Amino acid sequence: MTIGQNMKAVAAAGIAIVLWTMTAISASAQNLPIVRDAEIEALLTDYATPIFKAAGISRKGIEIVLINSPTFNAFVDGRRIFINTGTIETAETPNEIVGVIAHESGHLAGGHQYRLREQIARAKTLAVVGSLIGLGAAAGGGIGGLDGAAKSGAGLATAAPSIAMRSLLSYKRGEEITADQAAVKYLNATGQSAKGMLDTFKRFSQESVLAGVNVNPYELSHPLPVDRIALMEELARKSPYFDKSDPPALQLRHDMARGKVAAYSGGAPEVARIFRDDPSNPGARYGKAISSYLRGNVTSALKDIDGLLAQQPNNPYLHEMKGEILLKARQPKKAAASFAKAAKLDRRNSGIIQAQLGFAYLSTGEPAQAKKAIKELRAALSSDPYNFAAYDYLSRAYAQNDDIANAELTQAEGNFIAGNIDDAKRFAIRALMKLPKGTPAWQRADDIVKYNKPKKK
Ligand SMILES: [Zn+2]
Repeated sequence: MTIGQNMKAVAAAGIAIVLWTMTAISASAQNLPIVRDAEIEALLTDYATPIFKAAGISRKGIEIVLINSPTFNAFVDGRRIFINTGTIETAETPNEIVGVIAHESGHLAGGHQYRLREQIARAKTLAVVGSLIGLGAAAGGGIGGLDGAAKSGAGLATAAPSIAMRSLLSYKRGEEITADQAAVKYLNATGQSAKGMLDTFKRFSQESVLAGVNVNPYELSHPLPVDRIALMEELARKSPYFDKSDPPALQLRHDMARGKVAAYSGGAPEVARIFRDDPSNPGARYGKAISSYLRGNVTSALKDIDGLLAQQPNNPYLHEMKGEILLKARQPKKAAASFAKAAKLDRRNSGIIQAQLGFAYLSTGEPAQAKKAIKELRAALSSDPYNFAAYDYLSRAYAQNDDIANAELTQAEGNFIAGNIDDAKRFAIRALMKLPKGTPAWQRADDIVKYNKPKKK
C-alpha cells in the first residue's frame, strides 16, 4: 500500500478500474491522501462492477478513489466515488460496502449535486471536504438540524462560511431518498441484499444519538433522519435477497482487506480490535503479519505470511506482501521471485504489482537486472500512469543503465503527471539536449517543454 503525499493534481489517480479510462487530470484533488493498493482496488472493482452495470453508468468512466482516512465516508464528485480506508475497516461485510457504492451510484446515475460538482471544480473543494471532516468532529451538534443551522447562519455555517461548504451541507434530502431507492433497485438487480446499507445507516444514526458530539463525516454528506431510515428499511425488507449473505470467498477477501487497512492505520492493536470477536480469522493473521513488517520484524512477518500462503497459495496479494517483506529484509532476488508470482496470479494485471517487480530487480543493483527493471516499469506505467513511485524507480533504472537522457525524461513525465509542471519542464529541457532529435522520446520531452499551463478559471 502506498500513500501519496501531497499529490498535486492527482485527481485521476485513484483506482484505475480496469474497464474505464482515466479522466483528465483535474486540480480538484489537491493534497488528498490517495492510497494505491492492488488488493483493495481489485476488491472495490469487484464490488462496484455489477452495481455500475445495473445503474447504467459502467460506460461513463466512473472511478473509485481510495482516500487514506480512518473515518467512514464516501462521496461522489460527478465521475468519481471517493471511499475512505476507514469505510473498509469499519464495514464487517462486503455487502455493507456494496450498499455504500450502490447509494453513491444512485447519486451518479441521477446526476445529483450538479451544482456542487461545479463548485468543486472551481473551489478545489476537496480541500474543503478535508476541513469539513475536521469541522464535523469539532463543531458537533445534531445532524437533524444541519439545514436549519446553515440557513440561520449559526453553528456550522458560521464556522465555515464558504459557498462550497454550505452547498455540501445542503445536500438535497430528496436526492438522498432517490439515491436510496436507486440503490435498492441496483442491489435487487444484482441479487444482493440491502441489509448492509440499512445496517450502516442505522449504525450512524444510533452512534450520533449516543455520542452526541462526534458527527461522522458520512452523516454530514448523507444526513440520516429517522424517516429516511424507516423508508429504507421498508424497501430493503421487501427484497427477496434481504437475508442473503455474501459469498464466503468474497467475505474472506474483505476480511483480508480489513486486516491490511487496520495494520496500516493502527498496527497490531488495531488489528486485534477489529477481529476481537474472531481472532482466528485469516484477516487477523494478515493484519498481524503486516504490522510486524511495518515495525521491521521481518522474521515474524514472513512466518505469518507463509502460514497464510499455505492456506491460500494462489492469492496474488500474499505473494506481493511477501515480496515487500523480503525487500525490507534486503533480499531483492527473493522479493523479485515473489512479485513475479504475484504478477502471474493477478488476473487484473495491476500495474502496481508489476512496478514492484521492477523495483525488486532494480534493488539487486546488478546491471543485467536493471534492464529487466526498465522493461517491467515501462509496462507498469503504460497500463497505470498514476503510479508516482514507479517513475522514480524507472528513472533510477535508466541511470543504472547509464541512460541519463531517459532517466531525465522519466523524471519529466512523472512530475508532469503529478502536476509539478515547472519541475517537469526543467527535466524535459535537460533530456531534450541529450536525446536524438525527432525520436519519439525527444518528441515527448519537447511536448512537455512546450506545454502551456491552462489558465485559472
Ligand atoms: Zn447520499
